[in-house]
Amino acid sequence: MSRFLETLGLVKRRKSLEPAQLAIEGRPIAVSFRRHAKARRLIMRLSRDRSGVVITLPPRVGRNEALEFAKKSSRWIIERLTVEPAARPLRAGTEILIRGELRQIRHAGSRRGTITLSENAVIVAGDLAHLQRRLIDWLKVEAKRDLVKASEFYAQAMGVSFHRLSVRDQKSRWGSCTSDGILSYSWRLVLAPPFVLDYVAAHEVAHLRHMNHGRGFWRLVLSHCSEASRAKTWLKKHGAELHAYAAIR
Ligand SMILES: [Zn+2]
Repeated sequence: MSRFLETLGLVKRRKSLEPAQLAIEGRPIAVSFRRHAKARRLIMRLSRDRSGVVITLPPRVGRNEALEFAKKSSRWIIERLTVEPAARPLRAGTEILIRGELRQIRHAGSRRGTITLSENAVIVAGDLAHLQRRLIDWLKVEAKRDLVKASEFYAQAMGVSFHRLSVRDQKSRWGSCTSDGILSYSWRLVLAPPFVLDYVAAHEVAHLRHMNHGRGFWRLVLSHCSEASRAKTWLKKHGAELHAYAAIR
């Protein structure tokens, strides 16, 4: 937004504030600053590359004050960096979880872009420069296929039907369901073990009958999906890892 306002000439671009570095529990933390004319207080977030934090300064708050704020928040910073695992770009030689199995990403020359699974590996052919995008596109297709299959299964079992199903990259939810029968899911569910994807499908499809999380809703979910609580525990424990692959932050 600030960049947009700057373009319009509504906000004057101020001279940039020099970044700093802190050591928290022996770990180097980069601190960068940016000023925002409309900020009302100091706001801190993790930087996109997760090497540290970015602090937004309201007008009339100086760099030193902002740096003090970062020092006082060192516990928050270190906790956030620990809770959210580091972003994992998808590159040849790195590993990715697919349907709950860890596989090494391999690149196979410049043959036209097919993707195959072999024992312990996922082999991505085609131009190396497009490996991540090609792998994600493929994972989305695989995710959709698994999710259509699971959703159709539970819809039939629960005696409901849906109109449309889409696969997206939502950070906040694994799935959602509208009252007019539109299901949407995170493609990242294909990374989790199949019982997790199954549970999320059972959960969303059950909302076609109960648009709440009341007793009737849970009775329906549990009567069709015996692994619900195991799946919920898995997501709580590993959900952030799924979001770390090719993270958009
Ligand atoms: Zn729900």
